[in-house]
Amino acid sequence: MSAMLADPAALLRSVFGFEGFRGVQAQVVERVLAGKATLAIMPTGAGKSLCYQLPAVALPGCCVVISPLIALMHDQLRSARALGIRAASLTSVDSDWRETQDRLRAGELDLLYVAPERASGTGFRTLLESARISLFAIDEAHCVSEWGHDFRPDYRLLRPLLDAFPDVPRLALTATADRHTRDDILAQLGIPPEGLIISGFDRPNIRYAVQPRDGLQRQLQDVLAANSGPGIIYAPTRAATEQLAQGLARGGRTVLPYHAGLSSEVRAANQSAFLASEDMVMVATVAFGMGIDKPDVRFVVHAGLPKSIESYYQESGRAGRDGEPAIALLLWGAEDFVRARQRIAEVEPARQSGERARIASLGALVETAGCRRAVLLRHFGETPPPQCGNCDNCLEPPACMDVTETAQKLLSA
Ligand code: ADP
Ligand code: MG
Repeated sequence: MSAMLADPAALLRSVFGFEGFRGVQAQVVERVLAGKATLAIMPTGAGKSLCYQLPAVALPGCCVVISPLIALMHDQLRSARALGIRAASLTSVDSDWRETQDRLRAGELDLLYVAPERASGTGFRTLLESARISLFAIDEAHCVSEWGHDFRPDYRLLRPLLDAFPDVPRLALTATADRHTRDDILAQLGIPPEGLIISGFDRPNIRYAVQPRDGLQRQLQDVLAANSGPGIIYAPTRAATEQLAQGLARGGRTVLPYHAGLSSEVRAANQSAFLASEDMVMVATVAFGMGIDKPDVRFVVHAGLPKSIESYYQESGRAGRDGEPAIALLLWGAEDFVRARQRIAEVEPARQSGERARIASLGALVETAGCRRAVLLRHFGETPPPQCGNCDNCLEPPACMDVTETAQKLLSA
């Protein structure tokens, strides 16, 4: 379906069925079609995939997509194929390698998904040399940075591959926007600063609330009672995941656990049940969610402190992708901060100041008597109004600072 020089807006309608570009999509697609190296920073759910899928269809040759998870690749593969895009992947669970390689060489593929460890190998480079490549898309590009919350050393090995094809444009995509990670991605992947495109990070339909943990099970039961739609509860450990899921399921609702310790069959079954459900609750570790596109998630609760503001924004951002009202609730305890601080000592010295900064930012979020959204958006370099009107503190201004003395000491230490 390679339609050379096809009009992007026409392809958007005919192939993807969308009436218009959203946010910065048009800007990103335009740069990519002009062959310019680009880093697109767009919030979760903003539609990053389209930014490379549309050029993949518009440009002659195949777009190579680097993606960190097989589950993610296969999700994307399914939806691309459903649109009639010629897509394939080369992963350890694919059995049609020979056919995929033949199709690539014959110019019969629009999209090829691979993991970074595969992409950086010499065999893969030789394969690409025997084909026509239109674009390198590096999805979840924050994985290239030690500053990011998901560092994957294999992403560091991609640069030689990209540089071996100087005429092929590169597009890096991520939802992680803090300045360190951003600068690091540009440097690591060889993208000039003018290639940076950032979209607005506000998710106005999400109502943010933060509360101290105080009888967790009961607090979660209250959330379930007040919200009938699908929801995700993030728990800090596998054991907590199982235990909370069991306890909450007694309320009659389908509540299932999800963590990396479950067999892949159970994980796949629970995930499909969740995707298909209109009222199910998934109690999960952060292993759940990357790349999950379920538009009608009505609430995301964190039963403990997330790793960073970036992770919090990304995880809570899985709520309300359909634009309808949704809730993000963060339940925290002073002991979360104690544990987070203890973990700093365990990371290598070079990363400790970054970790300290991450914890301080989380402290600011839970501690503030002002607008929660403003804290989040300022973290991403935006200048929000002082009041959003749709977070706990804006809706019900706290009478006084209700942070306990212990917590205050911990937060300011
Ligand atoms: P991201 O990777 O940024 O989190 P996705 O690429 O998974 O987001 O897209 C999120 C959702 O937005 C998908 O359901 C996708 O079909 C939809 N979407 C993308 N672009 C548009 C658009 N221009 N108009 C309407 N819906 C869109
Ligand atoms: Mg994505």
